[in-house]
Amino acid sequence: LHAYSTPFRGDTEEERGAVIVLRDITDQEREDRARRDFVANVSHEIRTPLTTVKSYIEALEDGAIESPDHAKRFLSVISGETDRMVRLVTDLLQLSRLDAQRESWAIAPHSLRDLVQKASFRFTMQLQRQKVALSFEVPNNLVVNVDPDKLDQVFDNLISNAIKYTPEDGRISITAARVSGKHVLVQITDTGVGIPKSDLPQIFDRFYRVDKARSRQAGGTGLGLSIARGIIEKHGGQIRIDSEEGQGTAVSFTLPVATGGA
Ligand code: ADP
Repeated sequence: LHAYSTPFRGDTEEERGAVIVLRDITDQEREDRARRDFVANVSHEIRTPLTTVKSYIEALEDGAIESPDHAKRFLSVISGETDRMVRLVTDLLQLSRLDAQRESWAIAPHSLRDLVQKASFRFTMQLQRQKVALSFEVPNNLVVNVDPDKLDQVFDNLISNAIKYTPEDGRISITAARVSGKHVLVQITDTGVGIPKSDLPQIFDRFYRVDKARSRQAGGTGLGLSIARGIIEKHGGQIRIDSEEGQGTAVSFTLPVATGGA
């Protein structure tokens, strides 16, 4: 609520007072503010790696290039920061395509088990490196109506989060079951650091992170969950997060069962 007060002078004591205008912040204003915040966030997220890249290039120009050791290290920082910017721009493009609703979707029946298996397989190396175990239990006969590339992205975002925020010797499990004639419920559970209760309501917001430093260090853009939510909702599903700080996190989402599917 915005309140404006204007002093009001009347001729008599009784008439002196103030005119107070109360009005709701309109949807338009809210949208404008969200857009400004978004642009500010994007600028900041791009400026940070750019500044790092620039300073390492300057160090190389100032002579570090003469030392092969330094040069190699600095170039690897530059390469890492460039990767981050590419990831960020890729995620931003994905979000803007979801917003614009002009993407063509290749929705068709697919075996959920195959999708989960392939997604898990893509993380084999990373799981080994981080000493985190992943298991999945998905019945053979679940057929869902989805765009497989889009669903791949949901699994990639959610599994990579589970790995990023789960310390060594942790476990990740993926389960799926039919919950109604029309929907399948998929759950990705980890035994990681969890999310504080006070952060849960904003957790799907763009660029929202519990621990910015940890997210950045793990290569996060802060956009993974908003993209996952966008994709699930486009499929007519819903997504939610339950979490207990220090215990772990469970991300659950629904997907449409393919008509005529088993
Ligand atoms: P990021 O790129 O930072 O991981 P996301 O949008 O994917 O961005 O997630 C937003 C934030 O939610 C993360 O920064 C992290 O704080 C929290 N988060 C997401 N998934 C998990 C998880 N499995 N365990 C703990 N925290 C998580």
